[in-house]
Formats: sequence, C-alpha cells, structure tokens
Amino acid sequence: MTKAIRIHVNGGPEVMKWEDVPTPEPGPGEALIKQEAVGLNYIDVYFRTGLYKAPNMPLVIGQEGAGTVTAVGPNVVAVAPGDRVAYAGPIGGYATERVIPADRLVKVPEAISFQTAAAMMLQGMTAQYLLRRTYTVKAGDTIVVHAAAGGVGLIMCQWAKHLGATVIGVVSSEQKAAIAHANGAAHTVVGYANLVAEVKRITAGAMVPVVYDSVGKDTFLTSLDCLAPLGLMASYGSASGPVPPVELGLLAAKGSLYLTRPTLATYTAKRADLERAATDLFDVVGKGVVKIQINQTFPLKDAAAAHIALEARKTTGSTVLIP
Ligand code: NDP
Repeated sequence: MTKAIRIHVNGGPEVMKWEDVPTPEPGPGEALIKQEAVGLNYIDVYFRTGLYKAPNMPLVIGQEGAGTVTAVGPNVVAVAPGDRVAYAGPIGGYATERVIPADRLVKVPEAISFQTAAAMMLQGMTAQYLLRRTYTVKAGDTIVVHAAAGGVGLIMCQWAKHLGATVIGVVSSEQKAAIAHANGAAHTVVGYANLVAEVKRITAGAMVPVVYDSVGKDTFLTSLDCLAPLGLMASYGSASGPVPPVELGLLAAKGSLYLTRPTLATYTAKRADLERAATDLFDVVGKGVVKIQINQTFPLKDAAAAHIALEARKTTGSTVLIP
C-alpha cells in the first residue's frame, strides 16, 4: 500500500482525504516513482472544486512532482530505476508513489534538488512558453504580469527581466509588491483600480504589447485596456473565476487586439516541446538567472491547509508538499 490525497466529490479543501491506496504497478510505457516532493498549483484547486472536470472519482489530484524511478513497465527506454526525475501534467501527483507515462518524465540535473524540481516544473515551464512562445518577449518590451508575487508570477518577473523586459507586476498588497520588486518587477501596482492609469504613465501613453493575466474574471477588461493596438491578451488562468463569454467586437474597438487562452498541456504535448521547455528552464535555474522561491512547505497529508492558504492569497512564490 501507499498513501495519497484523494477526493471522492468536488468541494472545499475538506474533501481531500489522506488515504491508503494500493501501490500501482507500472504498465507498458509507464514508470513507478517514489516521490520526494510534490508541487502545489492553482490548477489543483480547479480540479478539487470542479471548475475542471475530474477524469474519474475517487481522484488523486496534483500535476507536478519529483522523485526517483523505482520500477518501469515494458517498452520504457527513456528512464530506468534509480533515475532522478520530475514532471508537470499527468494528474495523480498528491501521492507518495505514483505511476506515470514515462515519456512525460524529464531527468533532473544533480544540482537541482527534488524540492526545487517539484516547485518549478509546472510554473516554470508555463513561464517559459508564455515568455518565449505565446509572445516572444524582447529586450525593451514593457509587459504586464498579474499575480506577480505568486508561483508563476515570481518566475515570470525574473525571467522577463533577464530577457531585457520591463515588468509591471500587479499584486494585492504592499508586502507582495516588495517581493515582486525584489524578484525583477521594475514597477508594481497594488490592486486593479489604478492599473490602466499606471500603465499609461509608465509607458508614456504607449501601453504594452502583452498582458499575462492569470486572474481571469476580475481583471479581464482592465487588462484589455492596458494593451497597445495589436496587443496580445494572454489569459492563462482563472484565480478569481472564469472569464465570461467575450463579445469579439470588443477586441476591434480596443485596437484590433489578439486574445489567447493557452495551456501548458498544448505547449508541451509533443515530447520535443516538453524537452525544450524543461531544458530552457533548467538552464535559467542552473545559471541562477531564475531562483525558485519555495516560500511555503506543508506535509502532503496537510494538503487541505495548503489549499486554504493558496485560495486565501496568503502564499507567495512556490509551495511544495512533502510526502
Ligand atoms: P499563484 O501562486 O499565482 O496564486 C494565485 C494568485 O492569484 C494569488 O496569490 C493572488 O495574488 C491572485 N489572485 C487574484 N485574485 C484571486 C482570487 N480571487 N482568489 C485567489 N487568488 C487570486 O498560483 P500559481 O502560480 O499556481 O498559478 C497562477 C495562475 O496561473 C493560476 O490562475 C493558474 O491557474 C494559472 N496557470 C495556468 C497555466 C496554463 O498553462 N494556462 C499553467 C500554470 C498556472 P494577489 O494576491 O497578488 O492578487
């Protein structure tokens, strides 16, 4: 037997139960991993509440972790028992041991700890595709990053600064503003009420070519107003709730804007893209360009407390659950 956090119904943090589950056997193309650290992500909340539909019940939520391969099924060549590995994507992460398609694993460089790997795979590869592919951030760009002191946010601030961009980080408190600033945000704006005016002031009226918006419902329209003509709205999360249906004419009226709702799953669906994203991330973390800020850890069995903190906006940077 092994231990896992499972949900049997959708609901609040209390639906997460620490339970005995049979140790899974790796099937063809699969690997069994003993997890040393599990990443906490906002998407875990969406699966718990039901905003994203559970593929099955009971469900082990969680989509990120790091550990050691202990067994492999038939037809696995990419990894072998003893390998240090990490992943982002396949659901089933809140467990001490889990099976996973081996082609979703990447080997973790020796210099990167399990906790750092578990903290960075999902949030870091998200930052990678948003900054390098959804919109290619260039030196001299000024960009808006919402939830700038959060997990994805702190990585985006550091990486975008390294790319030569000026980051306007949006946060909900002065304390978070200081953290975002210390991690590369040149400017910080607290709350949304003055955001458009601040972006106008900072850019001398030019506005920005891209807004990275993970807040969703509460910020969607404000974010559109921060964009320069032909700008790109990258609406990549729904921390405040999903964005209601959009009248396309709005994009015309506000300057022939582009709108995308990207996901890491699409951007890493091909093995080559997954490897490129992970390599790029390991590179910036290995060089110290991006420091993964693990500002909270919880025992995995206390995942409910971690969800309460995340939803109450009490966390900053990344959070790791320890099996
Ligand atoms: P964060 O650490 O960023 O936590 C969420 C943050 O959102 C909070 O700290 C808070 O920051 C802000 N927020 C704004 N409004 C609310 C609200 N009503 N309730 C709670 N939080 C709110 O989480 P992650 O780094 O894990 O994820 C960030 C976002 O990115 C999430 O929306 C997630 O879904 C999305 N995401 C999308 C991916 C994709 O590929 N599309 C992949 C990975 C993440 P503040 O207090 O400063 O406002």
